[in-house]
Amino acid sequence: AKRQGRNTFRFYTESMTSQATDRLQLETRLRRAVEQREFLLHYQPLMDLNTRRVVGVEALVRLKGPQGGEACLPSIGPDLFIPVMEDTGMIVALGEWVLREACRQGRVWLDEGLEFGRLAVNISPSEIRRGGVIERVTRILKQTGFPANRLELEITESGLMEHGENADLFLQQLHQMGVSISIDDFGTGYSSLAYLKRFPVHQLKIDRSFVQDLPGNANDAQLVSTMISLAHNLRMRVVAEGVEMPDQEAFLCAKGCDMAQGYLFSRPLPAAHVEKLLGSTRSQ
Ligand code: C2E
Ligand code: CA
Ligand code: CA
Ligand code: CA
Repeated sequence: AKRQGRNTFRFYTESMTSQATDRLQLETRLRRAVEQREFLLHYQPLMDLNTRRVVGVEALVRLKGPQGGEACLPSIGPDLFIPVMEDTGMIVALGEWVLREACRQGRVWLDEGLEFGRLAVNISPSEIRRGGVIERVTRILKQTGFPANRLELEITESGLMEHGENADLFLQQLHQMGVSISIDDFGTGYSSLAYLKRFPVHQLKIDRSFVQDLPGNANDAQLVSTMISLAHNLRMRVVAEGVEMPDQEAFLCAKGCDMAQGYLFSRPLPAAHVEKLLGSTRSQ
């Protein structure tokens, strides 16, 4: 038993050491990526479920491949590197780059007459916690000439709730600038309906986890219907994330969901592909 115990101990130590090494390597890789600007943005369309038109695009950050080309390492996606960047504070530099690049691209599309609707950019709770977001948004909109009323910031439910009273002022300022607010991953965090009612929130995005088993899962079907009604009662638009199957779309349509996003319509695409997609509906 003793020997077994020692082996077990060693096993854990080794695995913890290798985890720490992995983490350090990832951190080093990310620091270099920030310095050398090895990131790029993909854009995923948001579809209006009534008109079946693109009414928005969400910018999603990607780490470029090791050769600096456009190829992405599927093993290092944002779900993996965003939390590390939040912990280390690198998220501030990344967030600034993402917003500027998205607004720069959006401005180009506007100048080319490509009707993409609204431009959604994710903002992490730790960016808000670290402060300066309002100033940054103001500055970047000015520098890029991108109109505030085309910009939508996606903030997670938990990110917002964690700010309590401060979130109020923060959201009011964005609202006054004309920037829209979307609550991301709705349903996954704890949320206070009192806050939701009080905040100038324009849109709820129902988390993919509630959508994936539609329409067969009766529990999820009930929850999603309730979330759609809730959004509409609060005069908010509602988007379903992660729509992959036609019967999911049919269910959402029947329940009056306004918009949807997911592989059924399009994966996140490089900017040039978005242009091709939108080119067919180019405004005159
Ligand atoms: P999110 O904001 O909830 O973004 C949606 C994620 O779901 C994206 O993953 C997207 O590629 C994926 N997705 C979209 N449609 C489908 C579908 O039909 N099926 C499935 N299985 N997945 C779908 P991605 O790009 O890997 O991003 C993961 C998360 O990383 C994002 O979740 C967001 O929280 C974060 N993130 C991405 N880009 C940024 C960024 O620029 N800034 C910040 N702060 N966070 C970002
Ligand atoms: Ca999002
Ligand atoms: Ca989401
Ligand atoms: Ca998510």
